[in-house]
Amino acid sequence: MGKIQVQTENIFPIIKKFLYSDNEIFLRELVSNAVDATQKLKALASLGEFKGELGDTKIEVLVDKSSKTITIKDKGIGMTKDEVEKYITQIAFSGAEEFVNKYKDKVDKNVVIGHFGLGFYSAFMVAKKVEIFSLSHKENSKAVRWECDGSPEYQIEEISNKAERGTNIVLHIADDCEEYLEESKIEGLLKKYCKFLPVEIKFGTRKKFEPTGEKDKDGNDKEKEVEVDNIINNPSPAWTKKPADLKDEDYKSFYRELYPMQFEEPLFHIHLNVDYPFNLTGILYFPKLSNKLEMPKDRIQLYSNQVFVTDNVENIVPDFLTLLRGVIDSPDIPLNVSRSYLQADGNVKKISSHITKKVADKLEELFKKDRADFEKKWDDIKVFVQYGMLSDEKFYEKAVKFALFKNTDGKYFTFEEYENHVKALQTDKDKRVVYLYSTNVHEQHAYIDAAKARGYDVLLMDTMIDSHYINQLESKLKDTSFVRVDSDTIDKLIKKEENIPSKLSEEEIKSLQPVIESVVPKEQFMVVFENMSETDSPMIITRPEFMRRMKDMNALGGGMNFYGNMPEMYNLVVNSNHPLITKIKNEADEAKKSTLAKQASDLALLSQGLLKGEQLTNFIKRSVELID
Ligand code: ADP
Repeated sequence: MGKIQVQTENIFPIIKKFLYSDNEIFLRELVSNAVDATQKLKALASLGEFKGELGDTKIEVLVDKSSKTITIKDKGIGMTKDEVEKYITQIAFSGAEEFVNKYKDKVDKNVVIGHFGLGFYSAFMVAKKVEIFSLSHKENSKAVRWECDGSPEYQIEEISNKAERGTNIVLHIADDCEEYLEESKIEGLLKKYCKFLPVEIKFGTRKKFEPTGEKDKDGNDKEKEVEVDNIINNPSPAWTKKPADLKDEDYKSFYRELYPMQFEEPLFHIHLNVDYPFNLTGILYFPKLSNKLEMPKDRIQLYSNQVFVTDNVENIVPDFLTLLRGVIDSPDIPLNVSRSYLQADGNVKKISSHITKKVADKLEELFKKDRADFEKKWDDIKVFVQYGMLSDEKFYEKAVKFALFKNTDGKYFTFEEYENHVKALQTDKDKRVVYLYSTNVHEQHAYIDAAKARGYDVLLMDTMIDSHYINQLESKLKDTSFVRVDSDTIDKLIKKEENIPSKLSEEEIKSLQPVIESVVPKEQFMVVFENMSETDSPMIITRPEFMRRMKDMNALGGGMNFYGNMPEMYNLVVNSNHPLITKIKNEADEAKKSTLAKQASDLALLSQGLLKGEQLTNFIKRSVELID
């Protein structure tokens, strides 16, 4: 008989309720201990300190519904009676730490998972009684049995009926946890937490067809059904290997292993491999995203020495990269307890900024190595890049080297290239370079055409975050402003010195103004006269840049509410120099004058896709009459 050495009598309720947010992780803890025990023995064997046969070191998990037990069996290092007393009953004292300290110069400390000395007791989250049967690897050891029912009292005795080296942990499952006696439940948990543990884990058997070596009468290979071990895990997943040893296909097949339900191939991967100032390995994939920015189900998975920790990487991976997929493995990420603990952890913060840097480096490398390929992928990755540039100053500084603009002809430019491309023609009288952009090439087709006719270039800025991105670029790029191509008449988009003289006198404009105002709804349209070229349209609709942008940002959230609530306002710009306007002015018959004005303004609306319903029907009728 003995008493577990803890400061308080009541540690078990604490373990049960607070230490782990989720009781299912008991299995992860116990299988990790079994892996540790196996790895330690292998380490001792490689150092020559263990001279026996390693043999088959598979770990086995067994569920027995009739006796209501779960057993975790390993053939690892085992424990003597003294060691059980020392490692198991002195709760805060972790054998893993002691082992690492003793052998720290000889073995990689990362081969041993446990750090905290509390993992074993997570068993009591689901068990009313726990037994340990263990036989140490040391020569002439006696086997030992330990038993504890969750109170601080335990029993320990030497036994003679365990001949096999290693440890069996037997959990007698509590009545309120019987769900864990379902094989499918345990298999699911093993696949979740243990899928990439470095020692083979067997859970029962499965049936498989194997060739017999004989042929049937048709000459086909004969197959027979055989029972094989059901191995849960892949002990050496791709991220633990050296990048030099992996081909592109290996990365792709690992992606499929991680996300069996994903049929789309990833765009590219980043193999992370850091050992200073912290340890981190992993593979991140850039997936092809659908346009909708929904929270994906297949997320980055976080591991600590191949033990699954979580797939909720919020705050560990920077926000803009949470849409990536893949794995991150770091022994510096604490395996235990709650997420709030994880987020406050200093290593976790360092990891986050390191990942940002790595992603930026990789993108730059891809850009430099194969520009054409990078351009092909740009449309799919630009959301990440823009989001990153908006949310992370350091990322912005790196990204200006490879971030691309795409114009409405589908050509790509770096920031620098674009400036040089448009500077000559698109600098206004205040020496600002004006970047024209379109959010929809179909709806804004007429405006794009007009701009191109002037030799201007028009960028395509058609994603959700573009309006925020444009604001950011305006504050970063020197003497540059962005103007949507339909926000003003072509002459005013980029204001130059020259003035086109007007064909209409001020009086004539004054008399024409109410005629045109009467054919469009007042609350929506401001009628303004401008002196454009004769070849421009007689009337066009524009949407002032400032108002439109405020509305867009408001729709996305984070804009100024006042503008967001304003009704849609448009300018109806009348080209004073167009012959048709002169014709309207000269028309003596008031009814005809109004019809012509209506027809011209409807045409302007039509080209913007704003003419709908009854208005459109009337327009068509009127057009037919006019042709007559
Ligand atoms: P940790 O794994 O964090 O050290 P645990 O409470 O899980 O803490 O385990 C305490 C110690 O008990 C381990 O460090 C190890 O020395 C010993 N131990 C636990 N399980 C096993 C096992 N299956 N085989 C050998 N030793 C074990």
